[in-house]
Amino acid sequence: MHYTGTIWRPPYEAASLLLEVTAGCTHHKCKFCTLYNDLPFNFRMSPMENIEDDLQEMKRAIKNQDSEAANRVFLTGANPFVLSYDKLIAIAERIHKYLPSVNSIGSFARITDIMPKTDGELARLRAFGYDGLTIGIETGDDKALRFMNKGYTSADIIEQCQRLDTAGIHYSFFYLVSISGAGRGEIGAKLTANLCNQIHPTLIGANMLTIYPDSELYAEIQRGNWREEGELEKYKEIRTLIENLQIPTVFAAMGASNAYQFYGRLPKDKKKLLLFLDEIIGNVSEEELRRYRKSVHHL
Ligand code: SF4
Repeated sequence: MHYTGTIWRPPYEAASLLLEVTAGCTHHKCKFCTLYNDLPFNFRMSPMENIEDDLQEMKRAIKNQDSEAANRVFLTGANPFVLSYDKLIAIAERIHKYLPSVNSIGSFARITDIMPKTDGELARLRAFGYDGLTIGIETGDDKALRFMNKGYTSADIIEQCQRLDTAGIHYSFFYLVSISGAGRGEIGAKLTANLCNQIHPTLIGANMLTIYPDSELYAEIQRGNWREEGELEKYKEIRTLIENLQIPTVFAAMGASNAYQFYGRLPKDKKKLLLFLDEIIGNVSEEELRRYRKSVHHL
């Protein structure tokens, strides 16, 4: 298989076939992000020969085409959905040629990857199997989006996700706890809940900000331009987000950045999740949570 650098995928894509069609990120400018710093370039599309080779290798490796593992492909790289409509269709055609049991294709996507595609193209991509995108919106707080260089606004998130809703393409969000900075977590959480309440994310996955010295954000902190939230403040922020969500969705805090991992379906499990967070806020010390944060050497 042609895998380049660290391969990242959401926890819920554990059973999906991982196909490298891109490596790195076209944006590569978010101040907190170090995910693709191990690559010697910012972004690259894989040659189609490599993609075909990998699909042939997968075909050979999959003994039983009816198994769960052969139903879904997750395209790797930070934002494969940036590829043009024609390239995405060409990739989907090859996936269906070599792995006919695959019925859905997912990937990470940036909001700016959706913008240039027409409504007709999005609908046809859905017909070719594209579904279940994971979008790291991070927040609905425009001040934080601007400071962190995310490259889009909260209005863009709503507009582009409404277009995905119309095309029938489901999507999940990553929310970055603490992106709004010290003293603004609850403001960011309320703005994000308000944004999510206008669209239909299948799942909202919370990741807690963990700052590494090779990030631009670390340099901003050294310059005195930004302050991180305390660890307990991060849990209060998640609590505010869950409390203010009014849509049916799944809320999950599952990655390594979360000292306490939890998962629930809203609105059914809202009370249970809030009680769980109250227990943490009331009984776990800032020092203990800080020790955990320092132990996360790599996400
Ligand atoms: S957070 Fe996502 S979009 Fe931003 S630089 Fe990292 S990989 Fe790229």
